[in-house]
Amino acid sequence: MTRIALTGITRSYLRRAPPALAHVSLAVEPGTLLALLGASGSGKSTLLKLVAGVEAPDQGDIAFDGRSVLPVPAHRRRAVLVFQNAYLFPFLSVAENIAFGLRVQGASRATMQAEVRRMLDLVELPGIERKRPAQLSGGEQQRVALARALAIRPRVLLLDEPFSSLDSAVRHTLQEAVRRIQRELGITTLLVTHDRGEALAMADRVALLDRGALLAHETPQRLFARPPTRRAAHLMGVTTCLRGELAGGQLRTSLGVLAVDADGAPAGLATYAIRPEHMRLACAPEPNALPVRVLAETFRGERYEYLLQAGDETLRVHAFQPFTAPADAPAYVVLPTEHLFPVCDDAVAPPARPA
Ligand code: ADP
Ligand code: MG
Repeated sequence: MTRIALTGITRSYLRRAPPALAHVSLAVEPGTLLALLGASGSGKSTLLKLVAGVEAPDQGDIAFDGRSVLPVPAHRRRAVLVFQNAYLFPFLSVAENIAFGLRVQGASRATMQAEVRRMLDLVELPGIERKRPAQLSGGEQQRVALARALAIRPRVLLLDEPFSSLDSAVRHTLQEAVRRIQRELGITTLLVTHDRGEALAMADRVALLDRGALLAHETPQRLFARPPTRRAAHLMGVTTCLRGELAGGQLRTSLGVLAVDADGAPAGLATYAIRPEHMRLACAPEPNALPVRVLAETFRGERYEYLLQAGDETLRVHAFQPFTAPADAPAYVVLPTEHLFPVCDDAVAPPARPA
């Protein structure tokens, strides 16, 4: 099992554009799955290509098990890439596709046959050796692409949005299959995704990338519950950040005073955030309640969403039950102290990329 360490990685493509990655340091522990989560253009694929060796960093180092791989060419790093499209060789059978890397390595016919069978069992597609890629569904093609990648026994598996071209039912079964295989083989894996749910469900750790910067590197639970910065909070679906003057366990905001868990934070300007499902609507004032006007209610099946006006801020609240109060009655939103958490301001963001 291989440990991957990135230290101070910077990579620019164009001289006048901001770097695709800036000063990223990150470690992936042996046998774990790290999800690289970020919007399109945040630098995820660039990071994967640097680890694979098909791109080189301008600055910084990449090491496998403590040894720099920068002098090692891509084909000798034993880090395999799997993409959104399977890119199988269309004129080769499934078996020939899977054995391709082994053939290049000069493996014997018997080894190749045994290995193809083992890999097809692993991806739960036994017996399809003789089929052609065109005879397979999208999900099956991705499984074969995975089998081909794993057949050469790589040290590192690099997955670049491997599920995003599949419909949601197939995507879910394949996510589960990849997670099972990854655990079974104990292979250190980097998974690129822009899908928050996918990152949280699959990863041991999530690295949150935003415009080339690493905002957070946390367990899924911790990142979801306590994103460290305003921008990280926003990317994790937190839409309410309240700024105010912190003193004696109280945050004085323009909307009202909230009791918060200051936990030794210095007095002064501070920002606290709260997840939309942790706020609650009420008909009467109570501690940590702010007066609001309900602007809109949307039924989303598994929940209701409320758009609220509080002072000159709009807040979004999720609830499992509908809020039933007379239309002209006062309404309040309650922000429980235990769910309010501090967020830092982000470092000055790089200027927007020219279109
Ligand atoms: P992601 O995978 O998160 O969508 P990428 O790593 O592909 O992001 O891209 C990060 C940034 O680098 C983007 O702004 C993209 O336009 C730019 N970029 C990526 N590859 C190249 C390239 N070969 N030439 C110029 N710019 C590139
Ligand atoms: Mg990409």
